[in-house]
Amino acid sequence: MNFPGVDAGRAFRNTGFWKTSFGRQSVIRYAKPTSVDEALALLGEDAWRILAGGTDFYPAQGSKPVRDNVLDINGLAALRGIAETSDHFVIGARTTWTDIVRHPLPPAFDALKQAAREVGSVQIQNVASVTGNLCNASPAADGVPALLVLDAEVELRSVAATRHLPLQDFILGNRRTALLPGEMVTAIRVPKPSGTSAFVKLGARRYLVISIAMVAARLVVEDGLVSDAAVAAGSCSVVARRLAGVEAALRGLPVDGGLADAVLAATMAELSPIADVRGSVEYRLDAVREIVARAVLAAVGRTTGDEVAAA
Ligand SMILES: Cc1cc2nc3c(=O)[nH]c(=O)nc-3n(C[C@H](O)[C@H](O)[C@H](O)COP(=O)(O)OP(=O)(O)OC[C@H]3O[C@@H](n4cnc5c(N)ncnc54)[C@H](O)[C@@H]3O)c2cc1C
Repeated sequence: MNFPGVDAGRAFRNTGFWKTSFGRQSVIRYAKPTSVDEALALLGEDAWRILAGGTDFYPAQGSKPVRDNVLDINGLAALRGIAETSDHFVIGARTTWTDIVRHPLPPAFDALKQAAREVGSVQIQNVASVTGNLCNASPAADGVPALLVLDAEVELRSVAATRHLPLQDFILGNRRTALLPGEMVTAIRVPKPSGTSAFVKLGARRYLVISIAMVAARLVVEDGLVSDAAVAAGSCSVVARRLAGVEAALRGLPVDGGLADAVLAATMAELSPIADVRGSVEYRLDAVREIVARAVLAAVGRTTGDEVAAA
C-alpha cells in the first residue's frame, strides 16, 4: 500500500488522502516520526492506527481504502533491538522475529527463538515485529505462549504516563488488548529467566501455516528434579493461557519419561478450543495434550519436540 505524496525522509507530515464521512471530506494523516517523544505527542493529539511491519495490518486492510490516520513506527530506531538491564531483557517494540533469532539470549528464551522461526516465512520474520504479534491479539499468535512462559510484561507509553502490564492482562480477547487511546507499546520486558525451554507448533503443514495448537514450556531443574515449570498453550482458547494444572503436576518430579505421563494425566481446565476449518474441538484437545508433553520433554533435552511423547 502506498502513501502518495509522503516523503519518508522527513520526520512526519500530512498526506493528501481524503476520506468521506457523513458526506464531508477530511484529510487523513500519515506520520513517520523519528523519535518516541514525537510519536507520543502525535498519539496525544489525534487517533491513529499504528503501522509496524504491516504483516497483520495490510492483510486486515485488504483492498479497502485507508480511512484512519496511520502512524508508521518504522522510523523509531530506538525501539529496535534487545537491551539488558540488571533484572530484565527489554525487547524494543520494533524488534523483528529475525532480531530475536540472531540475538544471543539465555536458554530460557529458546522457546521464543523457536516460535520466531515458525512465524510465517523468513521474509515475514525479517519485517514483522514481536510486539505487532501481541497487539494483533490473534488466538493463533505464535509469540504469545513463548512470552507467557517467560512472565513477560508489556510497556505502554502515552505522552502522560508509562505503565507495565503482565502479558496475560494485556491481551483481553480475540483482537482486543488493554491499549488505551493515546498509548503505544514501546517494549516487552522479560524478567531475567532461569531454566530451559521449548516451543512446539502443530499446523496442517510444516511451514507458513496458522497454528492448530502451539505450546511453550520452560522448566527449571535442580538436582535432577523439576523445581519450577511454566507451560502455556495457544490456539486452544480465545487468548493463549498458562496451564496451572500441568505446571503443578510437573513440580517436584524427576526429569525422566514420567514427565510425559504427568502431562497426559494433568488437568487443562484453561483450554476451551473452538472447532474451525483447521480442527475440531476434540482433535485440538487431544493434540494439545500430546504437544504439551513433547514441549516439556524437549525443554529438558529429552526429545527434539518432534517425537511422539504419548507412546
Ligand atoms: C504470510 C503471513 C504468514 C504469517 N504467519 C504467521 C505465523 O505463522 N504465526 C503468527 O503468529 N503470525 C503470523 N503472521 C502474522 C504476523 O506476521 C505477525 O503477527 C507479526 O508478528 C505482526 O507484526 P507486524 O510488525 O507486521 O505488525 P503490524 O501488522 O504492523 O501490526 C499488527 C497490529 O499491531 C498494532 N501495533 C503494532 N505495533 C504496535 C505498537 N508498538 N503499539 C501498539 N500497537 C501496535 C498495529 O496497529 C496492528 O493492529 C503471518 C502473516 C503473514 C502475512
